[in-house]
Amino acid sequence: MVNWILKKIVGSKNQREIKRLRKVVTQINQIEAQLQSLSDDELRAKTAFWKGELAKISDLNEQQAYLDRILPEAFAVVKNGARRLCGQETLVCDQPIPWNMVHFDVQLIGGMVLHQGKITEMATGEGKTLVATLPLYLNALTGRGAHLVTVNDYLAKRDSDWMGTLFRFLGLSVGCIQNDQPPEYRREQYYCDITYGTNSEFGFDYLRDNGMATTRETQVQRGYAFAIVDEVDSILIDEARTPLIISGPSTVTTQNYDKYKPVVEQLVKKQALLCNRLASEAEALAEQGKKEEAAQIYFKLKLGQPRHKSLLRAMEETDLRKGIEKVELSYYSDTLKAELFKIKEELYFTIDERAHESDLSEMGREFLNPGDPDAFVLPDLISEFAEIDLNAELSEGQKIEEKAKRQAFCDSQAERIHNITQLLRAYCLFEKDVQYVIEENKVVIVDEYTGRKMPGRRWSDGLHQAVEAKEGVQVDRETQTLATITIQNYFRLYFKLAGMTGTAETEANEFHDIYKLDVVVIPTNQPCIRKDLNDLIFKTRREKFNAVIKEIQIAHGRQQPVLVGTVSVETSELLSRMLKREKIPHTVLNAKFHMQEAEIVARAGQPGAVTISTNMAGRGTDIKLGPGVVENGGLYVIGTERHESRRIDRQLRGRCSRQGDPGLSRFYVSFEDDLMRNFGAADRMTAIMERFGMKEGEELEHPWLNKSVETAQRRVEQRNYMIRRRTLEFDDVMNKQREVVYGLRNETIESDEPRKIVYEIVEEAIPLKVESFMEPGEAAPNYAGLLSWVNSTFPLGLTAEKAGFEGKSAEVIAAWIIEKVKTSYELKTRHEEREAVRSLERYIILNAIDRLWQEHLYAMDSLREGVHLRAYGQKDPLIEYKNEAYEVFVELMGNIKNEVLHNLFRSTSNLQAFEQFMANLPQHLLHQEGGGESSILSGGAEQPAQPKAALPVRRDNIKVNRNDPCPCGSGRKYKSCCGRNA
Ligand code: ADP
Ligand code: MG
Repeated sequence: MVNWILKKIVGSKNQREIKRLRKVVTQINQIEAQLQSLSDDELRAKTAFWKGELAKISDLNEQQAYLDRILPEAFAVVKNGARRLCGQETLVCDQPIPWNMVHFDVQLIGGMVLHQGKITEMATGEGKTLVATLPLYLNALTGRGAHLVTVNDYLAKRDSDWMGTLFRFLGLSVGCIQNDQPPEYRREQYYCDITYGTNSEFGFDYLRDNGMATTRETQVQRGYAFAIVDEVDSILIDEARTPLIISGPSTVTTQNYDKYKPVVEQLVKKQALLCNRLASEAEALAEQGKKEEAAQIYFKLKLGQPRHKSLLRAMEETDLRKGIEKVELSYYSDTLKAELFKIKEELYFTIDERAHESDLSEMGREFLNPGDPDAFVLPDLISEFAEIDLNAELSEGQKIEEKAKRQAFCDSQAERIHNITQLLRAYCLFEKDVQYVIEENKVVIVDEYTGRKMPGRRWSDGLHQAVEAKEGVQVDRETQTLATITIQNYFRLYFKLAGMTGTAETEANEFHDIYKLDVVVIPTNQPCIRKDLNDLIFKTRREKFNAVIKEIQIAHGRQQPVLVGTVSVETSELLSRMLKREKIPHTVLNAKFHMQEAEIVARAGQPGAVTISTNMAGRGTDIKLGPGVVENGGLYVIGTERHESRRIDRQLRGRCSRQGDPGLSRFYVSFEDDLMRNFGAADRMTAIMERFGMKEGEELEHPWLNKSVETAQRRVEQRNYMIRRRTLEFDDVMNKQREVVYGLRNETIESDEPRKIVYEIVEEAIPLKVESFMEPGEAAPNYAGLLSWVNSTFPLGLTAEKAGFEGKSAEVIAAWIIEKVKTSYELKTRHEEREAVRSLERYIILNAIDRLWQEHLYAMDSLREGVHLRAYGQKDPLIEYKNEAYEVFVELMGNIKNEVLHNLFRSTSNLQAFEQFMANLPQHLLHQEGGGESSILSGGAEQPAQPKAALPVRRDNIKVNRNDPCPCGSGRKYKSCCGRNA
């Protein structure tokens, strides 16, 4: 009831808005009629005029007000431009395409909604690409850049070529960012009036500009004024959990994947033979009706090869599956633990699909290293060290040497085990063309939910290398995170953000709460005459798929094109196999065909076409109908499962009946679908079905049942929303920190006088340091400590008398030191070339920020994982995380400042040297920029060798075993904490 009332209110608000905008449409069309009498040049002159006017307004809000005022005329100019282009040919991705579009009224409405910084929901095929030209033109007039964000490079290129014709005709420049462009070229694209590109390219450029570039000239972007995100639901909701990460090669690398590959391959073959034997045994038993015995063997097979074909077939049979699940459950109870261990030992290794882990058995170790199964066991270092210590025959030096040897052996052992387990995972859990594809000799990850490729992303902890070794492609170095941001946080940078998609309404709350984006639903240009049939409900998946195939066969028989949607790549392949058996020609749209994706989708409307696709959301191409298809009822959309989210189902349905075409859609559902099993829908429905008296092998349909399914979907949506919100809340913490750090970084890059920043740092850091030596809680101020810190950081050569700290307040002392430091720094740099000193200063700050920020990213990662454990202690992990993150951040900022102080006078760390140095000025001053030693080197022969101030022990100097608890105290293993890249 509440919902219904809400819908009424929201609905009518939407209608009121549309009604209001329709009035403006009339106005636009009147102006457009008048514009028709202008010459092309006169029309174009409008662009230059407005640009000139807007350049005079510096206040951003006033600029927006100006844009609001000229909107009707500007939109009319764009529409009129489109009219003038009609009949001309344009080159779109090297293909000549005739221009035949003039904006429809509903498209003008959509454009206005985008200009307001909202999301316009317009169905597939309504021409959102053209809609975007209106606000892009208008907002580009400010000269601050307007971005259009697409889901892949192909669409960025296509749309910028295509719509570029119109923009260029009107006198605006258009750029397009593509994955393989060098920085200088990207910069030119960003400096165009309008720039098209994908979310990841935009995001990565942001990270490169702000986290890595060291000069203004190497930054490519120029601010974030206005962006329209196409397929906004796909980007802001579906991709909400995947951050963009720039990683660089790790400094250390220990990979021997190539070396171990042959032996692991043999091991995998051995296991495969063993598993085949198990499979035939189980099949035979099942045939004899000995289902329980068969289930026992199948369970063992599952441990050894969870994706074995025979097992997968067995899992499709209801009673066998239940039997196997029962066996599994019994083994994981405590009483049968020993038994389970025994079964595992009869295999070479076991694979845990859910945990994505593999484990060698005794037999497997023996095979890898005959006669020495201990070769895969880590030595007991602690006892070994104790033994060495007790050995009276060894000298101290020998003891150290011996320990180092044992340590090195242990390390290599640990690495070997790690390499081999990762290879096993690569062979047994990762299938080519499912989890990844090979492209241009690289392993490219495929997103398991969308089936889309994720170029540039890599699995961590050596897994990616293991897969590369398995596939025989170049094994790249391990990587470490250099910079990271989530896509949403990137989009939050924009002064004004807008979005468009065919499906936003069901997620309107989320858009509003998280992104402050309102959704306006735009009516279609032609009334939609699609028929959405009731869901067909089956007892088992097998019956369901059989029915789907039958239905496809019938439709194919009458030459009606069918689009079959699945929720996973796996189901797509299953259906494809079934269709092959029936000899029905079809195309599978999945990761392998990304390049031709648009063409395949476009062909899907031809008579008799059968197209299978995983997740149609965000694909960005509409399906046009071939000749004769309209008479045949249009495109038939079959969903083979309800998706967790209603939005994705709507996306699929929306692929038919574009622009007033006929069309038909139907979902097939079974009680064994995940959605039904996990969210209680099945139980409720079983009750309903019993009332209907449904028998085995029958199907059912009723509007009530659709409702039931949708309730389950709503529940999942709600849960997923909570998860995303939680992720964002965590990410917000990082985001604020990133803003501060990138802000400081940019200030440094842009500053003409970086010394000012250096002095600010000096003025902030020194008082804190002084206070730390004079804390009121302490018994007495630690003057000696303070003095020694000053002398090891700055070349002041203070003695206790000269300093005369005693009895003075912290403030006075700090001010005195600051003055001294500044004076000596002025002295030091007085005779140096000014620009060089500036570069050096920038370098010192950037270097400190970058190095410590990267360490900070690790620390925050492990903190985030760590706090979740505390949830058991009834503490809210988010609050804990925020508190600790704050502390770690304060520490980070302190460390950055201290590092700057330390490096300011590096290698001139005592007064004697400094004075000598000053005496010899300016003959031998050398700069080294970009080198490790970022300061001035003095070259006097008489100068005594300088002992360097001892550096505090950094954690990368400590030797720890990969499997030991991490010395940082996080409680996690070293290898998954600070030692991730060691
Ligand atoms: P959407 O992104 O909304 O699904 P597209 O932008 O891909 O739709 O456009 C779908 C098709 O509609 C394109 O082939 C385009 O040429 C056509 N189209 C869009 N607007 C118009 C128009 N005003 N007049 C004629 N055809 C149009
Ligand atoms: Mg589109």
